[in-house]
Amino acid sequence: MKKMVVLALALALVLAAATASANQADVVVIGAGGAGMAAAIQAADDGATVVVLEKMDYAGGNTVRSEGGMNAAGTVYQAAMGIEDSPEVMIEDTMVGGKNLSDPELVRFMAENSAATVDWLTGLGMDLSEVAQGAGATNARMHRSAGGAKIGGVLTPVLMRNLEQRGITILYGVRATKLDTDESGAVTGVTATDKTGTEVSFTCNSVVLATGGFGANEEQFAAYRSDLKGFSTTNHPGATGDGIVMAQAIGAALVDMDQIQTNPTVEPVTHIVLSESVRGNGAIMVNVEGQRFVNEMLTRDVLSAAILEQPEKYAYLIFDKRIMDKMEALQQDYEMGIVTEGETPAALAQALGIPEDVFAAQVESWNQAVASENDAAFERTTGLGTLSDGPWYAIQVSPAVHYTMGGVKINTNTQVLREDGSAIANLYAAGEVTGGVHGGNRLGGNAVCDIMVFGRQAGMQAAANALAKGSLALELPQAQAQTQQAQGHYTDGVYQVEGAGRNGPMQVTVTVEGGNITSITVDSHSETAMIFEAVERDFIPAIIAAQSTQVDSVAGATMSCDGLKNAIDSVLK
Ligand code: ADP
Repeated sequence: MKKMVVLALALALVLAAATASANQADVVVIGAGGAGMAAAIQAADDGATVVVLEKMDYAGGNTVRSEGGMNAAGTVYQAAMGIEDSPEVMIEDTMVGGKNLSDPELVRFMAENSAATVDWLTGLGMDLSEVAQGAGATNARMHRSAGGAKIGGVLTPVLMRNLEQRGITILYGVRATKLDTDESGAVTGVTATDKTGTEVSFTCNSVVLATGGFGANEEQFAAYRSDLKGFSTTNHPGATGDGIVMAQAIGAALVDMDQIQTNPTVEPVTHIVLSESVRGNGAIMVNVEGQRFVNEMLTRDVLSAAILEQPEKYAYLIFDKRIMDKMEALQQDYEMGIVTEGETPAALAQALGIPEDVFAAQVESWNQAVASENDAAFERTTGLGTLSDGPWYAIQVSPAVHYTMGGVKINTNTQVLREDGSAIANLYAAGEVTGGVHGGNRLGGNAVCDIMVFGRQAGMQAAANALAKGSLALELPQAQAQTQQAQGHYTDGVYQVEGAGRNGPMQVTVTVEGGNITSITVDSHSETAMIFEAVERDFIPAIIAAQSTQVDSVAGATMSCDGLKNAIDSVLK
């Protein structure tokens, strides 16, 4: 009898221990980009317990990099500006823009819910009151904040704040590796790996896959498109297609995987895209030998291939003061430090380390071709503008993958589908991880619309599915034990230090409490405001999250980040 009591007690203890070590929530969202955060907010508002797994040390993914705005048709802001638009016209534009490859039902769902999603975001504190015209859109419908700031930098903090207000946990540095299923093929949870390489598992009633695209995974995109081998990327380093692989492993169908948007002229270090309009204004491209090698006005795919055939697989985009003065975007690029300049063509060539005589002769012969309207060398007939106004400028460019239109197949309820059209139970997906919305080409402004509309829908559907099974209390013992913020081992104090920025010194205060860096403030600096905003938004939180300066610099602000890193390192020593 005694023995049995002891045995029962032991069993109870074992069971208690097992329960304590299980992570659980109604909804597990994989990926803290725009789609994942929208899903998390909506699921929580619908009454579900939610946890978000994010493999990087920070949230935002490609979303934080998005520039133009959010397309939406029939909004209050359009009405206020007297713009007549409708979901029908938006559907037509999106289908045509996507070369009629898009899934019409998904496109319809997106367009018809776009205006309501703008209202939803406004309720979350997002300003989308400015409406601009986007390429491929019949009517002005690209919504962004007043003043026209890049949308990703505004939207990401708004979403993060909303997660915080709802007490939704994001576990950083936790990479989902597998979708767990039962014998019927229904998803029952997620297996992940934390920062220390330890496996952690999560039990849940619904999973939202919001892992983004695969534009930073050369092996993966080149497998679908061998012509893109050697391309760099404009994507954030976490865009490696994990979600696609995990979903495929449990039977998900994939669509349009070979539909990949590229750009031939991307600055390789900052990933800044140089618009076609620079060439349209008369810019040429030369290789490291100082020579033109292609008609610069040909299509993106032809130019990309031509650049990759050059000795160093990159080219220089060459323009002059006339073009620089005309284009504000180039002036911003100049501020970002990606432009090389020379008072004469020979001086520019010298600065680039390319043959001076060949390059100077090339500029001269281009000017003659423009004057005679006869480009005998490459038969360029458009964008004929001289390069005769010094200083002369160059930006290094190479082709890069920009957006992956393909991904897992979903229906309008964001359920992930198998080849036979059946839905994988308990699995929802939204955002760039999915395929079918953008078909053969994505229109500017449609990415943010896609991730917000379908992110929100995924949250709603995942919550309803989970709650129908009975709610699971949020428990994260295993995850919290293993995925707490990184621990620092620094000496407590408030340190003030001067760092060298790109435009001059900056005054930095670093606070260390309990061995951890708890705050970094830049008290004064002379950096370009727009660039430094990104440093303060992305770089400083990443250092605090990692408790180390060994984090990625912000694209376009490498010198400011380096200056800050050196200053912080000097006090932490
Ligand atoms: P979307 O625009 O569709 O929201 P984003 O690129 O903005 O896509 O965000 C996707 C997020 O998912 C990124 O923050 C990325 O780091 C994260 N992510 C990708 N793969 C995983 C994974 N295996 N586990 C956890 N997070 C992931």
